[in-house]
Amino acid sequence: MLAVLFQLEQSQWWPLAKTTGHQFRQLHALLAHAVQTVPYYRDRCRGITPALDSETDSEQWRRIPLLKRPDVQQHEQALASAQIPETHGKTHTLHTSGSTGRPVRVQGTRLTDFFWQVFTLREHLWQRRDFAGRLAAIRFVPDNKAGYPGVAAQSWGPATSVMNGTGPAFLLNSATDISQQAAWLLDKNPDYLLSYPSNLAALATHFLKSGQQLSRLRQVRTMGEVLAADFRALCRQAWNVPVADVYSAQELGSIALQCPEHEENYHVQSENLLVEVLDDANEPCRPGETGRVVVTTLHNYAMPLIRYEVGDYAEVGEACPCGRGLPVLRRILGRVRNLLTMPNGEKQWPYMGIMKFTEIAPVKQFQMIQRSLEHIELRLAVDRPLNNDEEEKLTELVQRALSHPFRITFSYLPEIPRSPSGKFEDFVSEVTTQAVRL
Ligand SMILES: [Zn+2]
Repeated sequence: MLAVLFQLEQSQWWPLAKTTGHQFRQLHALLAHAVQTVPYYRDRCRGITPALDSETDSEQWRRIPLLKRPDVQQHEQALASAQIPETHGKTHTLHTSGSTGRPVRVQGTRLTDFFWQVFTLREHLWQRRDFAGRLAAIRFVPDNKAGYPGVAAQSWGPATSVMNGTGPAFLLNSATDISQQAAWLLDKNPDYLLSYPSNLAALATHFLKSGQQLSRLRQVRTMGEVLAADFRALCRQAWNVPVADVYSAQELGSIALQCPEHEENYHVQSENLLVEVLDDANEPCRPGETGRVVVTTLHNYAMPLIRYEVGDYAEVGEACPCGRGLPVLRRILGRVRNLLTMPNGEKQWPYMGIMKFTEIAPVKQFQMIQRSLEHIELRLAVDRPLNNDEEEKLTELVQRALSHPFRITFSYLPEIPRSPSGKFEDFVSEVTTQAVRL
């Protein structure tokens, strides 16, 4: 692992053209393997032999049809390689969380696991973490395991095994009640806290209210969900710490890591995957444009995902001033169902945070559901019932934020429900339209 880490230490500074050249050499090998051993690709990729200069490469490359999530679900068998190189090790199944509907199942190997760990370690190193620190993780654990009071481990996990030991780690199921999570954190007193942004926002709000402090906390680490507009500000206010975010997917590993110097930029992990961001015409987006994230895994020979449409939208960024050549995603924006449809049919990313809500009323959690072109349901978890004045102010706030006088209705819940995997979405639209215009 150290050898690969050393290589990554170098390759992050390569100019983009060198990285792309390297990727296309890997893609050649991957395509050859796919055509020969993966029934699904036998015809779809036959005859596509990208040249090694980037111009013709991309043209040839874009002839390969996109692989959508339903394709993976339907063709699970046909996507599996009949002949996995022995050196890649045993296979195992990776399940995606599937926030809605059926999960996607993908085969991985020891090698894909290895790369998952290498990029996890790279993230620790980029963020210059103190490996002696205490790590607390609050996340989804299947079968209701790791419920309060959680479980403890001697180290941060397999990715850090090459380090000379780490501090202890503590794990708690994110289904645990927020005040119980807070008590648990005060007891564990971690240096690093890892969880989903929505869970952390609820915790931060709780700590702001209680006035209690996590005296050792140095950084909040996030994964699994889109960061709300004011999330970083909220963590600074509650705990006076920065946030390190990772954009990953169960079936792919780390897709992009937050730049250690410029928190608004995410560097694509090009040594392990090729990321395309495509517009409605399937043309690559330019910096400043938002499109669909399409990923090709370079090292998964058990079930190669070639031009796999993850389902997320992201904005392409300019080259990062830090000097790393790895391409930049600027904002990860979630899925189609997280897009607001305006009454005139246009689509927008609603970008809100909890802090504006808490300035008006004792709101613990919020979620907006777009029920129709003119109607938004605002679901709230609150400390006490709200009065008319507060509801009116919240209505104005939402209408202003969404740039339209939508009809806002309120519903109150003890807690906003999460997906079975513990994920949470601030905004969900039930409006379905064919064309998505951005
Ligand atoms: Zn950077």
